Amino acid sequence: MKLSRALASCSILVSALCASASFAAPAAHWDYRGKHGATHWGDIEPAYESCAKGQVQSPIDIRNAQAAQLPALEFSYGRVAPSIVNNGHTIQVNVPKGQFLTIAGQRYDLLQFHFHTPSEEKVQGKPSAMVAHFVHRSEEGKLAVVAALIQPGKASTGFDTVLSHLPRQAGETLTVDGLELDLAGLLPTERRYWDFEGSLTTPPCSEGVHWMVLTQPVKVSAGAIRRFRQLYPANARPVQPLNGRVVRISQ
Ligand SMILES: [Zn+2]
Repeated sequence: MKLSRALASCSILVSALCASASFAAPAAHWDYRGKHGATHWGDIEPAYESCAKGQVQSPIDIRNAQAAQLPALEFSYGRVAPSIVNNGHTIQVNVPKGQFLTIAGQRYDLLQFHFHTPSEEKVQGKPSAMVAHFVHRSEEGKLAVVAALIQPGKASTGFDTVLSHLPRQAGETLTVDGLELDLAGLLPTERRYWDFEGSLTTPPCSEGVHWMVLTQPVKVSAGAIRRFRQLYPANARPVQPLNGRVVRISQ
């Protein structure tokens, strides 16, 4: 397979944030550790204020979920030619238009998915090895993120394929000739989910994001997890206070 690599002039161009808003200036530098680490994001610049002052922040530790009649998640995902981006904070897979999720009659278009290790979400205090966040946006600009928890196990062809084509340099984009990804095949078969309101888990930590975490984890080979961790050993924001939010679980 032929690999094509390109360097983006500005990594923000490929982030979820850029897809949801337009910014004239490149975003201020942030990181997961050190003086630009997660506990300092709110101080880096005024635009990141929500990271410190927001009351509906993500990720969370999922506990005491209340059973509820929640709408089914209807994924209209097909096969796509992905472009795989190293945006300096994670590996992000951009997908062409036409993939979407329908929740209670509302369409949300899939923009991209990306990874964190360990998983940002905890369940009863425990993280998974990794998580994939599928970022969707409605025509009105409402963001809906579906999280698939990832545990080591039998190789999943889809995620293992992505994780064997990792652009190593920040700002680098990789496309692989002939590579087609079966997006629906990335998801677990069980579609039960935890549901709560939250935020972006990276600066500017904007709120108003609808979170759905699938209860059934997917398996990825230990080697693929190791390859991701060679690039990003720890890119998870710590869990945030619930502040009275209720987590619901579908039936
Ligand atoms: Zn994420």
